[in-house]
Amino acid sequence: MQEPGYMPLKIADPALLFEALGKTPLVGMTPDEMADLLAELGEPRFRARQLFQWVYQKGVKDFAAMTNLPARLRERLAERTILRLLETETAQYDQKTSTTKFLFRLHDGSKVESVLMRQSWGNSVCITTQVGCRMGCTFCASTVGGLVRNLTAGEIVDQIVMMQRELPEGERVSSVVLMGSGEPLENYDHVLRAIRLMHEPDGLNIGYRHITISTSGIVPGMLKLAEEGLPITLALSLHAPTNELRRQLMPVARIWPIEEVLAAARAYGEKTGRRVTYEYILIEEVNDGPEEAAALARLLKGSLAHVNLIPMNPVDERPQYRRPGQERVNRFKAILESSGVATTVRRSMGGEIDAACGQLRNRAQRRQQRR
Ligand code: SF4
Repeated sequence: MQEPGYMPLKIADPALLFEALGKTPLVGMTPDEMADLLAELGEPRFRARQLFQWVYQKGVKDFAAMTNLPARLRERLAERTILRLLETETAQYDQKTSTTKFLFRLHDGSKVESVLMRQSWGNSVCITTQVGCRMGCTFCASTVGGLVRNLTAGEIVDQIVMMQRELPEGERVSSVVLMGSGEPLENYDHVLRAIRLMHEPDGLNIGYRHITISTSGIVPGMLKLAEEGLPITLALSLHAPTNELRRQLMPVARIWPIEEVLAAARAYGEKTGRRVTYEYILIEEVNDGPEEAAALARLLKGSLAHVNLIPMNPVDERPQYRRPGQERVNRFKAILESSGVATTVRRSMGGEIDAACGQLRNRAQRRQQRR
């Protein structure tokens, strides 16, 4: 796809990376694929369940830790396969909100960000689906260098496994949002495979209802997702109530106008029975006025909708966009609620960790270039 506003893809196929390494990643394999691999190695298929649990549930980093597998098999697996696809580069913890932001390094040296949030009702994570992004949203740090490549299903799931490892004994990740860098529906097949893997009972065992995919509004992808028969939540990044303003903020709006995007979101809600979330980044004096709030209320009134307001996090590369004050946020929320539209405001993570999505990676890249 090469529509106006999109940036070019730099590397096409992540699978080539692993071919070059001459090893197959275990994380990213389904239970059946693991059983086939074990059969090839002359092992009984029942061992696949044990292997699957070590890879996804226990998240071990070393074949030696797989104590219920014979030593001979562990050696052969180490020769033929790669266990983990990510290494932790940095982790920033915000005590006030019990949130940790991770920067992970991939096999090709690329870096991706993920966030672990520990809440009273469970542990949730926000994960990344692409290295960079080509959607060109003008308020976003992730898209500054364009798209480098899609993540594989294994790289997507491994973010969750790596973060689950950091939790106290007996705790697990219970919900996932695919809302980090990248447009998930542009990496459809890997994302869907990753979602099915997250759901596997012998692995992470995350209910489909606890998984949210966020999209900038790729209409064909939204309609395709509706046909999958999975009760996952769709979050549509709307960010503007009119085509004119949306086109200024999101180049994707030049391809699919707001009417089409909203129709696809409603179709998704009807098909799956799930309430659609509408994400709206509040940018001071750009889209946070009472007129925009009233226009958004008119668009969503009467539909099965929930609006999540996200006061903009300042982005180094986008100094023209500012975070609105609390008064403006409250006014926007009140206008939506007075029209009966369910609305929440995303809490701030605070401190250094509050850096907007993609910024940690950009800063790390700049540091590397200076060396
Ligand atoms: S907001 Fe999302 S879709 Fe838009 S450029 Fe950033 S990562 Fe890509």
